[in-house]
Amino acid sequence: MFIFNFGSIPIKYDSKRPQDIICHNCEHKGQTFVDKYLKYFHILYIPFFTYKYWTKYECVRCNSSVDEKDISKENQQIYEKFKTKKILPIWTFSGFLAAILIPLIYHILK
Ligand SMILES: [Zn+2]
Repeated sequence: MFIFNFGSIPIKYDSKRPQDIICHNCEHKGQTFVDKYLKYFHILYIPFFTYKYWTKYECVRCNSSVDEKDISKENQQIYEKFKTKKILPIWTFSGFLAAILIPLIYHILK
């Protein structure tokens, strides 16, 4: 039986530990992970497009974590350069690209 499956999947697509980042809570340097997450829409587990992405800062020393939107004004400057860039992994759009490219190639080769 064929089950039409679609929905959204959240994933962590990048994790870095910059040496010059200072934790907003315990103020230790280089202990914070910059984790980047995204949520993509899939059809039959083939990713079509990303519609949400965010950055989370997690300190391994004091176990505090903070979302991009919850950062206070003064901490925003510290974390600014580690923020999520608008460049997202291309594979999260593979279904969308295939939906354009396959008919296009078919049309050209016809
Ligand atoms: Zn900390």
